[in-house]
Amino acid sequence: MENSAPKLANLNHQDTKLVVRNLKKYFPVKQGLFGIRGYVHAVEDVSFTLKKGETLGLVGESGCGKTTTGLCILRLIEPTDGIIIFEGMNLLEMPKRELRSLRKRIQVVFQDPYASLNPRMSVAEIIGRGPKVHHLSEEKGLKDLVADILRKVGMKPEHMSRYPHQFSGGQRQRIGIARALVLNPDLIIADEPVSALDVSVQAQVLNLLSDLQKDFQFSMIMIAHDLSVVKYISDTIAVMYLGKILEIAPSKVLYEEPLHPYTRALLSAIPIPEPNLASKRILLEGDVPSPINPPHGCSFHSRCFNIGKKCRPEIPPSLIEASPNHHVACHLYDS
Ligand code: SF4
Repeated sequence: MENSAPKLANLNHQDTKLVVRNLKKYFPVKQGLFGIRGYVHAVEDVSFTLKKGETLGLVGESGCGKTTTGLCILRLIEPTDGIIIFEGMNLLEMPKRELRSLRKRIQVVFQDPYASLNPRMSVAEIIGRGPKVHHLSEEKGLKDLVADILRKVGMKPEHMSRYPHQFSGGQRQRIGIARALVLNPDLIIADEPVSALDVSVQAQVLNLLSDLQKDFQFSMIMIAHDLSVVKYISDTIAVMYLGKILEIAPSKVLYEEPLHPYTRALLSAIPIPEPNLASKRILLEGDVPSPINPPHGCSFHSRCFNIGKKCRPEIPPSLIEASPNHHVACHLYDS
Protein backbone atom coordinates (compact mmCIF):
# COMPACT_ATOMS: atom_id res chain seq x y z
CA MET A 1 0.00 0.00 0.00
CA GLU A 2 1.38 3.35 -1.02
CA ASN A 3 0.44 6.23 1.24
CA SER A 4 2.23 9.21 -0.17
CA ALA A 5 0.33 11.42 -2.58
CA PRO A 6 1.21 10.02 -6.02
CA LYS A 7 1.65 12.29 -8.99
CA LEU A 8 -1.46 12.45 -11.15
CA ALA A 9 0.37 10.44 -13.85
CA ASN A 10 0.62 7.51 -11.39
CA LEU A 11 -3.08 7.38 -10.55
CA ASN A 12 -3.72 4.76 -13.24
CA HIS A 13 -0.99 2.34 -12.17
CA GLN A 14 -2.13 -1.23 -12.90
CA ASP A 15 -1.63 -2.39 -9.30
CA THR A 16 -3.75 0.45 -7.99
CA LYS A 17 -7.40 -0.23 -7.29
CA LEU A 18 -8.51 3.03 -5.71
CA VAL A 19 -7.01 6.47 -5.32
CA VAL A 20 -8.66 9.06 -3.09
CA ARG A 21 -7.22 12.56 -3.13
CA ASN A 22 -8.15 15.60 -1.04
CA LEU A 23 -11.66 14.28 -0.42
CA LYS A 24 -13.95 16.74 1.37
CA LYS A 25 -17.51 16.48 2.51
CA TYR A 26 -19.23 19.40 4.25
CA PHE A 27 -22.85 19.17 5.39
CA PRO A 28 -24.75 22.46 5.72
CA VAL A 29 -26.25 23.23 9.14
CA LYS A 30 -29.59 24.85 8.47
CA GLN A 31 -30.91 27.88 10.35
CA GLY A 32 -34.53 28.86 9.93
CA LEU A 33 -36.22 28.04 6.63
CA PHE A 34 -33.54 29.10 4.15
CA GLY A 35 -30.50 30.13 6.15
CA ILE A 36 -27.27 28.19 6.67
CA ARG A 37 -25.57 28.55 10.07
CA GLY A 38 -22.35 26.84 9.08
CA TYR A 39 -20.97 23.55 7.79
CA VAL A 40 -20.12 20.25 9.44
CA HIS A 41 -16.64 19.40 8.16
CA ALA A 42 -17.29 15.66 8.10
CA VAL A 43 -14.38 14.77 5.79
CA GLU A 44 -11.44 17.17 5.42
CA ASP A 45 -8.74 16.53 2.83
CA VAL A 46 -8.60 12.74 3.03
CA SER A 47 -6.10 11.04 0.70
CA PHE A 48 -5.01 7.42 0.37
CA THR A 49 -4.20 4.76 -2.21
CA LEU A 50 -5.46 1.18 -2.13
CA LYS A 51 -3.74 -1.55 -4.14
CA LYS A 52 -5.38 -4.60 -5.70
CA GLY A 53 -6.19 -7.33 -3.19
CA GLU A 54 -5.16 -5.22 -0.18
CA THR A 55 -7.13 -3.95 2.81
CA LEU A 56 -7.13 -0.47 4.27
CA GLY A 57 -8.38 -0.19 7.86
CA LEU A 58 -10.06 3.17 8.48
CA VAL A 59 -10.23 3.72 12.23
CA GLY A 60 -11.44 6.43 14.59
CA GLU A 61 -14.06 7.39 17.15
CA SER A 62 -17.67 7.79 16.02
CA GLY A 63 -18.20 11.02 14.12
CA CYS A 64 -14.62 11.13 12.78
CA GLY A 65 -15.76 10.87 9.15
CA LYS A 66 -14.81 7.28 8.36
CA THR A 67 -18.31 6.16 7.31
CA THR A 68 -18.86 9.40 5.36
CA THR A 69 -15.62 8.67 3.48
CA GLY A 70 -17.00 5.22 2.56
CA LEU A 71 -20.33 6.68 1.45
CA CYS A 72 -18.54 9.25 -0.74
CA ILE A 73 -16.53 6.47 -2.45
CA LEU A 74 -19.78 4.61 -3.10
CA ARG A 75 -21.26 7.94 -4.25
CA LEU A 76 -24.24 7.32 -2.01
CA ILE A 77 -23.56 10.90 -0.96
CA GLU A 78 -21.90 13.50 -3.19
CA PRO A 79 -18.51 14.74 -1.97
CA THR A 80 -17.95 18.49 -1.73
CA ASP A 81 -14.56 18.25 -3.43
CA GLY A 82 -11.77 15.82 -4.24
CA ILE A 83 -10.81 13.06 -6.62
CA ILE A 84 -11.85 9.38 -6.46
CA ILE A 85 -10.19 7.19 -9.09
CA PHE A 86 -11.35 3.57 -9.28
CA GLU A 87 -9.34 1.45 -11.75
CA GLY A 88 -8.37 4.57 -13.67
CA MET A 89 -11.93 5.96 -13.83
CA ASN A 90 -12.82 9.19 -12.09
CA LEU A 91 -15.98 8.27 -10.18
CA LEU A 92 -16.91 11.89 -9.51
CA GLU A 93 -17.06 12.72 -13.23
CA MET A 94 -18.93 9.57 -14.18
CA PRO A 95 -22.51 9.99 -15.45
CA LYS A 96 -25.19 8.32 -13.26
CA ARG A 97 -25.97 5.67 -15.93
CA GLU A 98 -22.36 4.48 -16.14
CA LEU A 99 -22.06 4.63 -12.38
CA ARG A 100 -25.05 2.30 -12.03
CA SER A 101 -23.36 -0.42 -14.08
CA LEU A 102 -20.13 0.08 -12.10
CA ARG A 103 -21.93 -0.38 -8.78
CA LYS A 104 -21.74 -4.15 -8.95
CA ARG A 105 -17.95 -3.88 -8.78
CA ILE A 106 -18.01 -1.82 -5.57
CA GLN A 107 -20.08 -3.47 -2.86
CA VAL A 108 -20.80 -2.69 0.75
CA VAL A 109 -21.25 -4.78 3.90
CA PHE A 110 -23.26 -2.82 6.45
CA GLN A 111 -22.77 -2.53 10.17
CA ASP A 112 -26.15 -3.74 11.31
CA PRO A 113 -27.02 -7.21 9.98
CA TYR A 114 -30.51 -6.83 11.50
CA ALA A 115 -31.45 -3.61 9.72
CA SER A 116 -29.65 -4.21 6.43
CA LEU A 117 -31.62 -7.32 5.38
CA ASN A 118 -35.21 -6.95 4.24
CA PRO A 119 -37.27 -9.10 6.67
CA ARG A 120 -39.86 -9.84 3.97
CA MET A 121 -37.39 -11.32 1.53
CA SER A 122 -36.04 -14.85 1.67
CA VAL A 123 -32.28 -15.40 1.68
CA ALA A 124 -32.51 -16.54 -1.97
CA GLU A 125 -34.27 -13.27 -2.91
CA ILE A 126 -31.81 -11.13 -0.92
CA ILE A 127 -28.71 -12.69 -2.44
CA GLY A 128 -30.23 -13.21 -5.89
CA ARG A 129 -31.47 -9.65 -6.30
CA GLY A 130 -28.09 -8.18 -7.34
CA PRO A 131 -27.37 -10.73 -10.11
CA LYS A 132 -30.95 -10.26 -11.37
CA VAL A 133 -30.75 -6.45 -11.46
CA HIS A 134 -27.39 -6.54 -13.22
CA HIS A 135 -28.48 -9.36 -15.60
CA LEU A 136 -25.62 -11.58 -14.45
CA SER A 137 -27.58 -14.80 -14.22
CA GLU A 138 -30.52 -16.51 -15.92
CA GLU A 139 -33.42 -17.38 -13.57
CA LYS A 140 -32.59 -21.12 -13.74
CA GLY A 141 -28.93 -20.58 -12.87
CA LEU A 142 -29.70 -18.21 -10.01
CA LYS A 143 -30.50 -20.94 -7.50
CA ASP A 144 -27.15 -22.63 -8.10
CA LEU A 145 -25.36 -19.30 -7.83
CA VAL A 146 -27.03 -18.55 -4.47
CA ALA A 147 -26.35 -22.09 -3.18
CA ASP A 148 -22.71 -21.80 -4.18
CA ILE A 149 -22.18 -18.43 -2.50
CA LEU A 150 -23.95 -19.64 0.67
CA ARG A 151 -21.46 -22.51 0.89
CA LYS A 152 -18.59 -20.07 0.46
CA VAL A 153 -19.72 -18.02 3.47
CA GLY A 154 -20.10 -21.14 5.62
CA MET A 155 -23.88 -21.61 5.34
CA LYS A 156 -26.00 -24.37 3.85
CA PRO A 157 -27.86 -24.16 0.52
CA GLU A 158 -31.08 -25.18 2.30
CA HIS A 159 -30.90 -21.87 4.21
CA MET A 160 -31.92 -20.01 1.05
CA SER A 161 -35.65 -20.53 1.62
CA ARG A 162 -35.54 -19.06 5.14
CA TYR A 163 -36.02 -15.45 6.25
CA PRO A 164 -33.57 -13.14 8.11
CA HIS A 165 -35.36 -13.43 11.49
CA GLN A 166 -34.60 -17.17 11.52
CA PHE A 167 -30.84 -16.54 11.82
CA SER A 168 -28.42 -15.37 14.50
CA GLY A 169 -26.53 -12.06 14.18
CA GLY A 170 -23.39 -13.80 12.90
CA GLN A 171 -25.36 -15.77 10.28
CA ARG A 172 -27.12 -12.61 9.13
CA GLN A 173 -23.79 -10.90 8.64
CA ARG A 174 -22.68 -13.93 6.58
CA ILE A 175 -25.79 -13.39 4.42
CA GLY A 176 -24.83 -9.70 4.08
CA ILE A 177 -21.33 -10.75 2.98
CA ALA A 178 -22.80 -13.28 0.52
CA ARG A 179 -25.02 -10.55 -0.95
CA ALA A 180 -21.94 -8.40 -1.60
CA LEU A 181 -19.80 -11.28 -2.83
CA VAL A 182 -22.27 -12.79 -5.29
CA LEU A 183 -21.52 -9.92 -7.69
CA ASN A 184 -17.80 -10.79 -7.62
CA PRO A 185 -16.82 -7.22 -6.68
CA ASP A 186 -13.39 -5.64 -7.05
CA LEU A 187 -13.81 -3.52 -3.95
CA ILE A 188 -15.78 -4.14 -0.75
CA ILE A 189 -16.42 -1.38 1.77
CA ALA A 190 -17.10 -3.10 5.09
CA ASP A 191 -18.62 -0.52 7.44
CA GLU A 192 -18.11 -1.76 11.01
CA PRO A 193 -19.11 -5.29 9.93
CA VAL A 194 -18.56 -6.86 13.37
CA SER A 195 -19.39 -4.08 15.81
CA ALA A 196 -23.00 -5.30 16.28
CA LEU A 197 -21.90 -8.89 16.91
CA ASP A 198 -20.92 -10.78 20.06
CA VAL A 199 -17.17 -10.85 20.68
CA SER A 200 -17.11 -14.63 20.15
CA VAL A 201 -18.61 -14.23 16.66
CA GLN A 202 -16.52 -11.23 15.64
CA ALA A 203 -13.35 -13.27 15.04
CA GLN A 204 -15.27 -15.81 12.93
CA VAL A 205 -16.64 -13.09 10.64
CA LEU A 206 -13.24 -11.36 10.36
CA ASN A 207 -11.55 -14.68 9.51
CA LEU A 208 -14.26 -15.38 6.94
CA LEU A 209 -13.69 -11.99 5.26
CA SER A 210 -9.94 -12.59 5.25
CA ASP A 211 -10.32 -16.09 3.70
CA LEU A 212 -12.81 -14.84 1.10
CA GLN A 213 -10.46 -12.03 0.15
CA LYS A 214 -7.74 -14.58 -0.63
CA ASP A 215 -10.17 -16.58 -2.82
CA PHE A 216 -11.90 -13.69 -4.57
CA GLN A 217 -8.97 -11.23 -4.64
CA PHE A 218 -11.07 -8.17 -3.88
CA SER A 219 -9.67 -5.03 -2.28
CA MET A 220 -11.32 -3.89 0.92
CA ILE A 221 -11.81 -0.83 3.09
CA MET A 222 -12.54 -1.99 6.62
CA ILE A 223 -14.14 0.75 8.71
CA ALA A 224 -13.96 0.28 12.49
CA HIS A 225 -13.84 2.29 15.71
CA ASP A 226 -11.56 -0.21 17.38
CA LEU A 227 -7.91 -0.69 16.34
CA SER A 228 -7.90 -4.29 17.57
CA VAL A 229 -10.60 -5.22 15.00
CA VAL A 230 -8.57 -4.14 11.97
CA LYS A 231 -5.16 -5.31 13.21
CA TYR A 232 -4.91 -8.70 11.50
CA ILE A 233 -7.02 -8.06 8.44
CA SER A 234 -5.48 -4.75 7.25
CA ASP A 235 -2.35 -4.21 5.16
CA THR A 236 -2.44 -0.52 5.99
CA ILE A 237 -4.24 1.43 8.70
CA ALA A 238 -5.36 5.06 8.58
CA VAL A 239 -6.35 6.75 11.84
CA MET A 240 -8.98 9.48 11.47
CA TYR A 241 -9.96 12.30 13.81
CA LEU A 242 -12.40 15.15 13.10
CA GLY A 243 -12.54 14.32 9.38
CA LYS A 244 -8.76 14.11 8.84
CA ILE A 245 -6.27 11.27 8.57
CA LEU A 246 -3.73 11.87 11.34
CA GLU A 247 -1.55 8.83 10.73
CA ILE A 248 -1.32 6.17 8.04
CA ALA A 249 1.13 3.28 7.97
CA PRO A 250 1.48 -0.43 7.21
CA SER A 251 -0.45 -2.31 9.89
CA LYS A 252 2.58 -3.86 11.66
CA VAL A 253 4.45 -0.54 11.72
CA LEU A 254 1.47 1.34 13.14
CA TYR A 255 1.07 -1.15 16.00
CA GLU A 256 4.77 -1.38 16.81
CA GLU A 257 5.80 2.26 16.31
CA PRO A 258 2.76 4.53 16.57
CA LEU A 259 3.80 8.16 16.21
CA HIS A 260 0.73 10.35 16.58
CA PRO A 261 -0.40 10.97 20.18
CA TYR A 262 -3.98 10.06 19.20
CA THR A 263 -2.91 6.69 17.73
CA ARG A 264 -0.88 6.01 20.86
CA ALA A 265 -3.92 6.72 23.03
CA LEU A 266 -6.15 4.44 20.91
CA LEU A 267 -3.60 1.63 21.06
CA SER A 268 -3.22 1.98 24.81
CA ALA A 269 -6.96 1.31 25.18
CA ILE A 270 -6.64 -2.22 23.72
CA PRO A 271 -6.73 -4.73 26.62
CA ILE A 272 -3.61 -6.93 26.98
CA PRO A 273 -4.44 -10.63 27.58
CA GLU A 274 -1.61 -10.93 30.10
CA PRO A 275 -2.56 -10.44 33.77
CA ASN A 276 1.05 -9.83 34.91
CA LEU A 277 1.60 -6.96 32.50
CA ALA A 278 0.28 -3.64 33.75
CA SER A 279 -1.42 -1.78 30.93
CA LYS A 280 -0.31 1.83 30.50
CA ARG A 281 -3.57 3.34 29.37
CA ILE A 282 -3.41 6.90 28.06
CA LEU A 283 -6.61 8.62 29.09
CA LEU A 284 -7.61 11.44 26.77
CA GLU A 285 -9.30 14.33 28.50
CA GLY A 286 -12.30 16.18 27.13
CA ASP A 287 -14.67 15.38 24.30
CA VAL A 288 -14.15 15.37 20.56
CA PRO A 289 -14.62 19.04 19.47
CA SER A 290 -17.54 19.99 17.24
CA PRO A 291 -16.89 19.44 13.52
CA ILE A 292 -18.92 22.63 12.89
CA ASN A 293 -16.22 24.70 14.62
CA PRO A 294 -13.07 22.58 14.44
CA PRO A 295 -10.25 23.94 16.64
CA HIS A 296 -7.62 26.26 15.18
CA GLY A 297 -4.16 24.82 14.68
CA CYS A 298 -3.93 21.08 15.27
CA SER A 299 -7.43 19.59 15.43
CA PHE A 300 -6.29 17.32 18.28
CA HIS A 301 -4.67 20.00 20.46
CA SER A 302 -7.57 20.26 22.93
CA ARG A 303 -6.97 16.63 24.01
CA CYS A 304 -3.29 16.13 23.31
CA PHE A 305 -0.90 15.13 26.14
CA ASN A 306 2.12 16.29 24.11
CA ILE A 307 0.96 19.75 23.15
CA GLY A 308 3.71 22.23 22.17
CA LYS A 309 3.97 25.93 21.33
CA LYS A 310 3.08 25.58 17.67
CA CYS A 311 0.09 23.29 18.19
CA ARG A 312 -2.58 25.91 18.93
CA PRO A 313 -1.77 28.53 16.29
CA GLU A 314 -0.44 26.36 13.42
CA ILE A 315 -2.03 23.52 11.48
CA PRO A 316 0.50 20.64 11.26
CA PRO A 317 1.73 19.87 7.74
CA SER A 318 -0.49 17.19 6.26
CA LEU A 319 0.97 13.70 6.51
CA ILE A 320 4.76 14.00 6.72
CA GLU A 321 6.62 10.83 5.73
CA ALA A 322 8.34 9.96 9.03
CA SER A 323 9.68 6.64 7.65
CA PRO A 324 8.98 4.75 4.40
CA ASN A 325 5.19 4.58 3.92
CA HIS A 326 4.59 5.86 7.47
CA HIS A 327 2.90 9.26 7.39
CA VAL A 328 1.84 11.43 10.29
CA ALA A 329 0.25 14.88 10.69
CA CYS A 330 1.81 16.28 13.87
CA HIS A 331 4.22 19.13 14.72
CA LEU A 332 6.37 16.66 16.67
CA TYR A 333 7.66 15.33 13.35
CA ASP A 334 7.72 18.37 11.07
CA SER A 335 11.40 19.15 11.66
FE1 SF4 B 1 -0.36 17.04 19.82
FE2 SF4 B 1 0.74 19.17 18.71
FE3 SF4 B 1 0.97 16.80 17.52
FE4 SF4 B 1 -1.35 18.06 17.58
S1 SF4 B 1 0.49 18.74 16.55
S2 SF4 B 1 -1.00 15.93 17.99
S3 SF4 B 1 -1.32 19.01 19.59
S4 SF4 B 1 1.82 17.38 19.50
